[in-house]
Amino acid sequence: MNYHDFHQQSIRDPQGFWAKEAELIDWQRPFDKVLDYSNPPFTKWFVGGTTNLCHNAVDRWVESQGDKPALIAISTETNTEKVYTFRELQQEVMRAAAIMQALGVRKGDRVILYMPMIAEAAFAMLACARIGAIHSVVFGGFASHSLATRIDDAKPKLIISADAGSRGGKSVPYKPLLDEAIQLAAHKPEHVLLVDRGLVPMEMAPGRDLRYDALREERMHAEVPVTWLESNECSYVLYTSGTTGKPKGVQRDVGGYAVALASSMKTIFCGKPGDTYFSTSDIGWVVGHSYIVYGPLIAGMATIMYEGLPIRPDAGIWWSIVEKYRVTGMFSAPTAVRVLKKQPPELMKKHDLSSLKALYLAGEPLDETTSSWIANELNVPIIDNYWQTETGWPILTVARGVENTPTRLGSPGLPMYGYDVKLLNESTGEECGANEKGVLVIEGPLPPGCMQTVYGDDKRFINTYWSNFANRQVYSTFDWGIRDGDGYYFILGRTDDVINVAGHRLGTREIEESLSSHPNVSEVAVVGVEDKLKGQVAVAFAVLKNAEAASTPEGRKTLEAEMMAVVDKQLGAVARPSRVHFVTLLPKTRSGKLLRRSIQALCEGRDPGDLTTIEDPASLQQVREALAG
Ligand code: ATP
Ligand code: MG
Repeated sequence: MNYHDFHQQSIRDPQGFWAKEAELIDWQRPFDKVLDYSNPPFTKWFVGGTTNLCHNAVDRWVESQGDKPALIAISTETNTEKVYTFRELQQEVMRAAAIMQALGVRKGDRVILYMPMIAEAAFAMLACARIGAIHSVVFGGFASHSLATRIDDAKPKLIISADAGSRGGKSVPYKPLLDEAIQLAAHKPEHVLLVDRGLVPMEMAPGRDLRYDALREERMHAEVPVTWLESNECSYVLYTSGTTGKPKGVQRDVGGYAVALASSMKTIFCGKPGDTYFSTSDIGWVVGHSYIVYGPLIAGMATIMYEGLPIRPDAGIWWSIVEKYRVTGMFSAPTAVRVLKKQPPELMKKHDLSSLKALYLAGEPLDETTSSWIANELNVPIIDNYWQTETGWPILTVARGVENTPTRLGSPGLPMYGYDVKLLNESTGEECGANEKGVLVIEGPLPPGCMQTVYGDDKRFINTYWSNFANRQVYSTFDWGIRDGDGYYFILGRTDDVINVAGHRLGTREIEESLSSHPNVSEVAVVGVEDKLKGQVAVAFAVLKNAEAASTPEGRKTLEAEMMAVVDKQLGAVARPSRVHFVTLLPKTRSGKLLRRSIQALCEGRDPGDLTTIEDPASLQQVREALAG
């Protein structure tokens, strides 16, 4: 079918369209109504239907392919590798569910998971789903303060954690951070369940802390039936990355999410039972929820859970995994590809990658250089996809399962079915025409899979997302976009990454794109910095391909002038950064997003703010030194 018609159909007749997609999953009780949008912007999908995420991800497949691989847990940190079949996965999930039930966890109770990328984390997520408990996975890299805020927001009955994670071969203790977080938080969980990986000793709080292994031993033959949930009951809460401020608790449903994932696995990620999927994300992020744990399993595929760096023991590790497990689809982030790009290419070339059909990338803008490089190395389609924690699955990409839509460099693609995407003029709220820049919004109702509300705060949901244009209520993504004459969208950055130079509004991302076209620039961050005269000026921090060129003051001066000239030529002198600083590392979140707000704060002599998500604090030191020097 022609993709344009497919999309149109989904917008014109959402009920008919999604009723058909809903056949991709099992329902215990059929739904009475496909869509209830009587109380906008709150959307209810598949009203009255009962189903279960764990049933669809695990039990459903046990009969037809119980002995096929379901979960492949690989750690290059502990050098372990284990394959769980669907049957084994079901058994492990039932054991975990039985433990939770014994600890008093019931339907609707929250369970926080603060865990490394180990199989038990997936068991725990699925076990929660099985018994109707609401999981909230908190990224294992967060420190105690971030964890405490989430504990107080989610108010978990139980927290599941481990002795430690591991990064680059070094143990990263979790337990002391968890203890500190519980101390800091006003809410106290009844129990803490701990997976002991034998990495670091743990101090156990008597009565509160329990060992997963011991409780599992007692429940080897546990049978825990699935708790059927009404489609609109809550499955999980996941906090956004916090790139732009206080994280929001994204609340997700059951039925709509299951349908959206089953559908996207088929039409976007082109997966089917027997395929193997390798998403390099972390379960702490939305990609980990949708496309490590739930999506592939709901589609009957095997999924790989990987703990480790992309370059350890060497930069060939991911490709050796692709070869060994005959991976068919891979999902990663541009930031990881950039890391690989700096490594010797032979490591990729020596593996048999013939099973791989496509590489999907998301999370941040995919620049053309990175995209072309990896496309050339892998010789498979590189599919950019744009979405948010809030939406749970792609807003913009190409649905190759519907039609072999060509991709366009620099563009994530077209609006996905179910999403009525528009670009609105920020001040007038009018719709933009082709090649006019606007705020990317989605007309309600949001399709299945998207957030239901902000956990515990309906008002914040409405105020944050739906109240940005005076004359119309639409969902704002807070991203700038532009659409070309053929309907392809381009993301131009976040609405709060806009700077105002002498009355001209400029997207920092556009300036970054322009600077990146200088042949020696590998990565660059641009921020707006307060200026007495102009209001704001752009300041750039660049990572060079050949750092040698910036080793002397003269070298830096020449480079800076060259880079400014590039911007002058491409965007005009008004966009020219007032300074270009050279660093070897940019401040990023653990999920690979540039922390522009922290860079900006340092430039303006302020405190860099909440840094719990930062990948490497040394990057901020470099910014400080560059500013001082
Ligand atoms: P917070 O909302 O708490 O500030 P966050 O927006 O970084 O955090 P996520 O939901 O993980 O949290 O990220 C979604 C955002 O990432 C999008 O709104 C967009 O800005 C960016 N993004 C995601 N995918 C792409 C992509 N393919 N191209 C460009 N930008 C992308
Ligand atoms: Mg966001």
